[in-house]
Amino acid sequence: MRYSDLFPKTRRNAPKEAESLNHRILVRGGFIDQLMSGSWTLLPLGFKVVQKVVDIIREEMNATGAQEVLMPLLHPKEIWNQTGRWETARDVMYQFKDSRDREYALSFTHEEVVMDLVRKHLRSYKDLPIKIYHFSTKFRNEPRARSGILRGREFLMKDLYSVHSNEEDMYKYYWEVKDAYLRSFGRIGFKDVKVVEAAGGVFTDKHTHEFQVLSEGGEDVVYYCDRCDWAQNKEIFQDKAGDSCPSCKKGKAVEARSIEVGNIFPLGVWYAEKMGVYFIDEDGRQKLPWFASYGIGPSRILGTLVEVYGTEKGMLWPDSVSPFTVHLININTDALFVYEQLQKVGIDVLYDDRDVSAGEKFADSDLIGIPIRLVVSKETGEKIEWKRRDTEEIEILGIEDVIERLKNK
Ligand code: ATP
Ligand code: MG
Repeated sequence: MRYSDLFPKTRRNAPKEAESLNHRILVRGGFIDQLMSGSWTLLPLGFKVVQKVVDIIREEMNATGAQEVLMPLLHPKEIWNQTGRWETARDVMYQFKDSRDREYALSFTHEEVVMDLVRKHLRSYKDLPIKIYHFSTKFRNEPRARSGILRGREFLMKDLYSVHSNEEDMYKYYWEVKDAYLRSFGRIGFKDVKVVEAAGGVFTDKHTHEFQVLSEGGEDVVYYCDRCDWAQNKEIFQDKAGDSCPSCKKGKAVEARSIEVGNIFPLGVWYAEKMGVYFIDEDGRQKLPWFASYGIGPSRILGTLVEVYGTEKGMLWPDSVSPFTVHLININTDALFVYEQLQKVGIDVLYDDRDVSAGEKFADSDLIGIPIRLVVSKETGEKIEWKRRDTEEIEILGIEDVIERLKNK
C-alpha cells in the first residue's frame, strides 16, 4: 500500500477532548475516528489491526471445537421478558419502539437469543455440548464513555456460548476456554494477563473470571499475588494491598490498575429454567442444560495495545497485529524497486512515497508504529537500512536479505 493512497493521513494534534492515550494516538495516527461519544469508525489502519486480533481469536475458538455463527442485533422485547432482563437490564440496553409501536432492543449481549436457538434445536443429550460464537456489534448505554475506544456505546465483541448436559462438563469446557483466552491474548502480544476472580452477578454464586491487562490507563483496579496466580477484582477483594496472599500465603497482594479485555461466566441452569429449555438425558429424564458465556472485546483490545505499548510520540505494535509488516520510506530518491519486490513476494508493506521531508516521514512512522522500518536514500544506494523499532538496532542489508527475513515473519 502506498501511503499517498491511504485514507486518511496522520494528524498533528489530538482532539482537545481526548483524555486517554489510546484516543490521542489512534486518532492522530489515522486508525479511528469519533462520530460521537462512545462511537467510533475503524479506519483502514485500525480495521487491519482489529482483523488480525479477530483472526487470532477465531483460530483459538475453533481449536476448542466452537462453531462460528452470526446472530441478529435487533431483538424483540418478548425474548428479554422471558428472563426479566427487559426490566433488570434497562439501564444498559437501548430500547425503543418502531413506527407500529412494537418494542425492540439493540443487543448488549446474546444469552437470551442463544437460549431461544437452543430451545428450538436441542432434543437429547446426544446434541450436547453445543459451542457457538460470533463476532458482532454490541450496544450499551455506557454512562461514562471517556476512555477512547476502550469503552464504546457501540463496540465489537466476540461472544461464545456453551451448553452442556451437566455441571462437570460445563466446567471442563470453561477451563479449556480460559486457556484458549490466555493463548489468544499471548499471541496478540500481551505479556502478563491476570485471570481475576470477580463476582458472579445475580445468576450464580460462583465466581466469574475477568482477563485483565495491567495498565495505568485502565478503569479497573485488581489485586494479584506477586508469587502465585491468585487475583481478585476490587469488588470482591476483602483485604488490603500488602496483605499476604489468601491462596498461597507466601506472596503479597499487589494493587494495580488494569483493563478488562475478556470475561467468562459459568451461568448454570438459570437461563434454561427461565426460558424453558430442556433435553432428554441418557437416563430418559427431562433435564435443564448447563450454560456458560465468554466474551472478548477486539475493539477494546485495539485501545489496550496502545495503552500498553504506546507513548505520546506514537505506537509500537507487536508483530502479530501490526497493520503492516514493514514501513518503507524513501528519502530524496526512489524506493520503488524495494516496494515492488516486497509486494511480489506477498509482504504487506506500507510505502511512504509522499514528497515530504524525511523528518515528517520519520515522525509519521513513529506515530503509526509498524515494528520494522526500511529506509532507502542516496546514502544507502542499492542497499536498504533495516531498523527494528523495539531494539533501535540498525543494519544495512541487500534486497535479498530483506526479503528472506520478512518471508519468515
Ligand atoms: P466493563 O466492566 O469494562 O464495563 P463488562 O464486564 O460489562 O465490561 P462484559 O459483559 O464482560 O463487559 O463484556 C465482555 C468483553 O467485552 C469485555 O471483557 C470487554 O473486552 C468488552 N467490552 C465490554 N464493554 C465494552 C465497551 N463498552 N466498549 C468496548 N468493549 C467492551
Ligand atoms: Mg466483564
